Amino acid sequence: MSDCYLKIDRIHKNFGQFTALNDISIDIKKNEFVCLLGPSGCGKTTLLRIIAGLEEPSAGNIVIDGKDMTYMPPSKRNFGIVFQSYALFPNLTALQNIEYGLKARKFPKKEVKEKALEALALVDLIHLKDKYPAQMSGGQQQRIALARALALSPDFLLLDEPLSALDAKVREKLRHEIRTIQKKLQITTIMVTHDQDEALTMADKIVVMNNAEVMQVGTPQEVYHTPANPFVANFIGSINFWKGRKTAYNEERTFAIRPEHIHISQTAGLLAEVEEIEFRGPTYRLKFKVKDQSTHLYGQMIKVDVAAYEVIEHQLTKGMDIYITLPAEKIIGFKEQVV
Ligand code: ATP
Repeated sequence: MSDCYLKIDRIHKNFGQFTALNDISIDIKKNEFVCLLGPSGCGKTTLLRIIAGLEEPSAGNIVIDGKDMTYMPPSKRNFGIVFQSYALFPNLTALQNIEYGLKARKFPKKEVKEKALEALALVDLIHLKDKYPAQMSGGQQQRIALARALALSPDFLLLDEPLSALDAKVREKLRHEIRTIQKKLQITTIMVTHDQDEALTMADKIVVMNNAEVMQVGTPQEVYHTPANPFVANFIGSINFWKGRKTAYNEERTFAIRPEHIHISQTAGLLAEVEEIEFRGPTYRLKFKVKDQSTHLYGQMIKVDVAAYEVIEHQLTKGMDIYITLPAEKIIGFKEQVV
């Protein structure tokens, strides 16, 4: 028996001649938090809209809890949804905004108030119940939008870039809050984002998309440490690429290593010159030009992240020569070229 709760099965979507989604299949388990991650225009919002029933696929199926829902209207799917733009009614208070959907579903009057207050408590905003959206911060408005979505006791939750309009500090706080609420309610959640940090910190499972296709599905650790191709390696985190040949193969391969996996040394490794030093708070990002002629890396620029104390210890300055080492076990090989 499969433990798949929401099945996205060979979905295609064309807008005229344009292919927005090409053969997308994803299995989502109950209670899982899944992030659809990819650059602008890769099709993630279109996929979310198809899951919601706001858009019909050109081919393929959406199966929810064993039932084929592909052509069911949104109202039959019992999901909650939160958008980037909050979409609250400006002329209604926080409480009234949440009550609105409950009233529309014809809940008894007493239950409407009870459920709305319960949802407000969940996002910890009871004290703002009589405030209007214009009297609240962006983060508070988005928490009200989340409460509104959850008040209807949905079977699953769809989040479309919910944090994109907020500033960095609030975004970080809300990441944690959303995840805590999601775990508490044990609600299957699909979130669209183009922010790799958001996906890495929040998701149980990340679906990396590009050009209408799924590039990789995996845990944050899997997509970070064992990227399926150069696109994933480059889209999630920072990485250095170079071309080379391995003795075992005759064809050219792409090799890659993350900046934090490279070490610097005064005594051994590849000779390299410091070309740039960038302060990043707890770490520095250094750019080296490789001067060792015996390697495929000769002449390449290599990014290396080092702890601040190392910069001081080695007295690193622009123009100085030092050695860098690339641990073999941290080097990733790809058949594909970097595009
Ligand atoms: P973003 O992060 O910018 O919203 P996205 O990954 O969510 O990007 P989609 O909104 O799903 O991307 O759009 C995918 C592609 O399909 C885009 O090239 C877009 O222009 C196109 N597209 C989306 N909706 C329509 C439509 N109704 N008619 C024609 N083309 C569309």
